[in-house]
Amino acid sequence: MSVIPAPPLASLPVLGSADRFPVHRIYCIGRNYAEHAREMGATVDRGQPVFFLKAATCLWDPAEPVPYPPATQDLHHEVELVAALGAGGRDLDLDAARRAIHGYALGLDLTRRDLQAAAKAKGLPWDTAKNFEAAAPTGPIRPVSPDFDPTSGELSLEVNGVVRQRADIAEMVFQVPEIVAMLSRLFTLRPGDLVFTGTPAGVAALVPGDRFVARFPGLPALAGTMA
Ligand code: MN
Repeated sequence: MSVIPAPPLASLPVLGSADRFPVHRIYCIGRNYAEHAREMGATVDRGQPVFFLKAATCLWDPAEPVPYPPATQDLHHEVELVAALGAGGRDLDLDAARRAIHGYALGLDLTRRDLQAAAKAKGLPWDTAKNFEAAAPTGPIRPVSPDFDPTSGELSLEVNGVVRQRADIAEMVFQVPEIVAMLSRLFTLRPGDLVFTGTPAGVAALVPGDRFVARFPGLPALAGTMA
C-alpha cells in the first residue's frame, strides 16, 4: 500500500485559448453506430439508448504514455467524438441541446472488454470495465464556430499505422443534439459536462507499446502510446 497524491482537478485545454475547460461529468452513449452494435452482438434500440458514465478523473493527456490498466487481458480502444457542453439544464429540446454544445474534442473510451463481457453475461453494471485510471485519453476542445460545427466527417483511429476504426459521424444512430436532449431528461446537465458520442465498428485490443492516432476533420490528431 502506498499513499497516492490527489489527481489535479479535471480539465481540458481549449484550442486558441490559454483557458482550460473545467470538466464536470463524463457521459457516454453505447451502441451509437449500427455496425459497432452488430460486432458486439447487440442491436440498436432507438427506444432504449445505452448510457453510462466515466469519472472526470478518467481524463488523460495523451502527451504522456497511457498506463495499461490492471485486471484486464483485453483492453479495447473506442475512438469517439466528444461534445463539450457550455450550458446545462433539464428537459432540453433539440434546439436548446444544440445551443448547449460549446465544442468538440477527440477521445478514446478505453474499455476492459473482458470485464465488460463478464458483467454483461451476469446482467451487472459496467463500471469496472469503463471507469478506471486513464480510461479517457482526450484531446483539446475546439469551440463551435461558423467554420466548425460538424454534423458529418470521417472519424478514424489508426494503431501502429493501420486503420482500425473508421466511420462518418453522420452514421450515428442518435445525432449529438439528440444525445444531449435525451441525457437532459435523465440528469441535470451542467456547463463542463462531456459527452462521448459512441464508437464506430473495428474496436480491438491495445497492448503496451502500441501507438494510436485518432483523427477528425477540423481537430488536431489525438496521438499517443500505450505504456
Ligand atoms: Mn464507447
